[in-house]
Formats: sequence, C-alpha cells, structure tokens
Amino acid sequence: MPSVYIKTYGCQMNERDSEAVAAQLVARGWSLAQSEATADVVLLNTCSVRDFAEQKAINKMSNVVGTARSEKRDQIVGFMGCMAQSRGQELIDKLPDVDLVLGTQKFHRAAEYLDELLAGTRKKIVDTEAEAKSEATIREHLLNGSAKTSVSAFVSIMQGCNQHCTFCIVPATRGEERSRTIPDIVAECRELVARGVREITLLGQIVTSFGRREKRDEWQVARDATDVSLVTRHPSPVTPFVQLLDAIHELDGLERIRFTSPHPKGYGDDLVEAYARLPKLCESAHIPLQSGSDRILKLMHRGYTREKFLGIIQKLRQAKPNIGIYTDIIVGFPGETEEDFEQTLSLCREVKFDNAYIFKYSERRDTPAATMPDQVPQAIREERNERLLNLVNEIAARKYDAFIGRQVQILVEGPSKKNAARYTGRTRCNRIVLFDGSARHQGQLMDVKIERTGSFTLYGDPAVVNL
Ligand code: SAM
Repeated sequence: MPSVYIKTYGCQMNERDSEAVAAQLVARGWSLAQSEATADVVLLNTCSVRDFAEQKAINKMSNVVGTARSEKRDQIVGFMGCMAQSRGQELIDKLPDVDLVLGTQKFHRAAEYLDELLAGTRKKIVDTEAEAKSEATIREHLLNGSAKTSVSAFVSIMQGCNQHCTFCIVPATRGEERSRTIPDIVAECRELVARGVREITLLGQIVTSFGRREKRDEWQVARDATDVSLVTRHPSPVTPFVQLLDAIHELDGLERIRFTSPHPKGYGDDLVEAYARLPKLCESAHIPLQSGSDRILKLMHRGYTREKFLGIIQKLRQAKPNIGIYTDIIVGFPGETEEDFEQTLSLCREVKFDNAYIFKYSERRDTPAATMPDQVPQAIREERNERLLNLVNEIAARKYDAFIGRQVQILVEGPSKKNAARYTGRTRCNRIVLFDGSARHQGQLMDVKIERTGSFTLYGDPAVVNL
C-alpha cells in the first residue's frame, strides 16, 4: 500500500483537517511516511490567512517537485485546504507537476482521488466545489499516531465564517457558517473518550457562532433524536454553543473541555456563566482583540468596541479569577495611526494578556481592506510588531514568574519533544509544564509544584505534592 506525507501550515483547524485525511488513508491500509523523500504521496495543507503562509507552501511545493524530478522519483503531489480552495486550477497552471488540488469542503474525498491518480485513471484533479454537509465529514482521528493525541483531541464542530472582517480571507476559503448537530458531535466525543481521550478542544473558525444559522426546528429534531440525558436541561435560553458545552460536559471520563477560536461577540452572559458552572470547562479563554482602537475596530468590521471588549474580560475574571486570557492582534491595518497603535498598547497594559499572537497586517486579495486607503508601510508594520511583542512578552513573563511556588493541576500529554526524559503537561489555564516524568504519568491528571519558569514554559516537581 502507498505511503503519504502531509505537511500542514496554519491553524489548529488545518492540523485537524490533516489528521482526518491521514486517518482516512491509514484506515485503507496506507502508511504515514516520515519525510517527503520517502513518500509515494506528498500533500501540503495550506493556509491563506497571510501572504507569507501562501508563499511558504508554494516554495515548499517547488522544492518537493524539483527534488522528485531530479531523483527520477514517481510521486503524486497535491495542495489541499485554504489556498487550494482560493486558487484552484491556478496552482496547477503555476506548478504543472502538481496532481491534486483539494478544496476545504473535499477533505473526505482525498482517498478516492488519490486512488484514481495512483491508478492513472485520472491525470489531474481539481475539486473546490461546495458540498452540502461537508462540515460533518471531518471525523476520523489518528489516536495512535502520536502519544500526545491519545490524551487530548480536537473536534471540528463547524465550518465557515459569516463575520466578514474586512481583513480576512476566511469566508472565501471556508465558505458560509455551517454547523454539525449536537448529537453527531457528542457521539464523536463519546468515541474519543472511550479510546482514552481526557481533554477535548472544540474547533471552528468562529466556534461561538456554532448552530446560530441552523433553524430552530432543525435543532429540535436533532435534539429529540438524541439521548435525552445528554441534552441540556438548563432553564434559561442559551446559545447553541453553550448547549453543546453542556451536552459534552455530561460525558463520563472526559476531564477537560476547551475551544478555539471564538469571537468576542460570542462571550455573552451564558458563556461567561458556563465558565463558573461547568467544572470541566478549563479556565482559559482565547479572545481575539485585533485592535485597541475603536476607529480601527470599526474599519475592520469587528462589531465591538474597546469598552465592550474590556467589559467581557472583567466579567470573565469575575467568574474565574485565575482564567488565562489569550488574544490575536493585527498591527499595521490600513489607516492605523501611531495614536491608534498606542490604544492597542494601552489596552494590552490594562488587560495583561497571558499571551498574544501578533500578526503584521497582510493584504488578502478580494478583501475590502486590501483596497482601503492609507496602507501602512512595511517598515512601520515591522516596528509596531516588535514594540507590541516586547510589551506582551514582558507582561507574560511577569505572569509566568508569579507561578513559582504555586501548586497547579496538569494533564500529562507525553514525553517532551526536545528531551524524552521530561514529560509535558498543561495547566487548566493552558500553560505548558515540564517535569521529570515517565510513561506511567501519561494521561494522568496530577498536581505539580512550580519551581522555575522558562520562555512560555513552567518547570514543575510532582514529587513534592504526590508523595
Ligand atoms: N475567530 C477569530 C476572530 O475572531 O477574528 C478568527 C481567527 S483567524 C482565522 C486567525 C487570526 O489571523 C485572526 O485572529 C487575525 O489576527 C489573523 N489574521 C486574519 N487575517 C489577517 C490578515 N489579513 N493579516 C494579518 N493577520 C490576519
């Protein structure tokens, strides 16, 4: 049987899509190659969020096909995911050795198309068509592929985005919001727990918009069909996303629930209250800010103000004082002045994020921001990126240092990639902890005392608290 090597660019949704494609092939007897040089098939799962990510994937593909040609190796190569969706045939026109271009609604067709290409019944395949119900096809997991994934798994609950932020290409690459049903997701989570998973992270482009588009009667049918013990009995009306959290929370054997990525508009009182009410919902929140300036937030079409954002943080900290808060920020959005940027800096000083993913604004084709006036010069984007990074790192380091001497609960994921004598786990608020461990710790929930800190890492000692 053939072997496949999949390289993934971008977010956790992309990682999850790659895992589902790999699992689909493994289920048919394929093996997973350790490198592209030894694989019969190489697939690049692409990201379009920034131009840099697209260029990286294109360069990688040029190298892969160039090496295969010079070594006279027969290899099937393909692009899949976001860039495959947005560029389609154009990718084969640019790189004629590419055999397959698989869009974001077609991951489940990978095995069928690769069989056809390997058998030679088709020479090139480009499929970027929309497909109804494709949101429910990202299901298979590779739990034995890595020791870590058997403890913690990602579950894709929806696809697409309707927010249409002016900078963002995602509505074009992932399509309109489409959600799976609660019973279908719960069934997948139940299977994962039966296979040893103890932590589940729910995934979606705007995960908090889960189920909003689906009609109420459709939901009723789905909920009537499920095991009633799993359906929320919450008295007040809650969003479908919180209903889903309630349903998953009831799974015996599941210890922790997380989700990413949400939108600030999704942090209504019902979700804030869920943090206080549901013990398995980890006190960790990813809340993408993008900018601290109301003027820029409006130009971005974000749908909230600085004050509203600060109000959400305050409510979350009231509900869970030790909650870890993470964010995404874009610097150098068109028209961003020094004063606007100062607003972002001052918001970061006020909120004291536990970490922030900072992106230099990247023009994306066919997005409204790409043609807005006053594009910010690259040098200024770089400079603001560095200033913000310094501030965020300085605040984060202080917050990490405050853990020294504290006892925290971790879920042990497996051996550290860099040092196999060390084991790695995560706190409930999503900080990585390294400790001297062994295979018997794998999958355990245990307490450790934090002794020192490194760069975005805590070092713990379990012996002190687990005698
Ligand atoms: N749910 C998230 C939200 O509320 O915006 C969307 C996640 S998005 C797929 C991941 C991150 O990529 C965004 O939060 C944003 O910071 C960044 N991003 C998206 N488009 C970008 C662009 N054109 N330039 C730079 N960064 C961008």
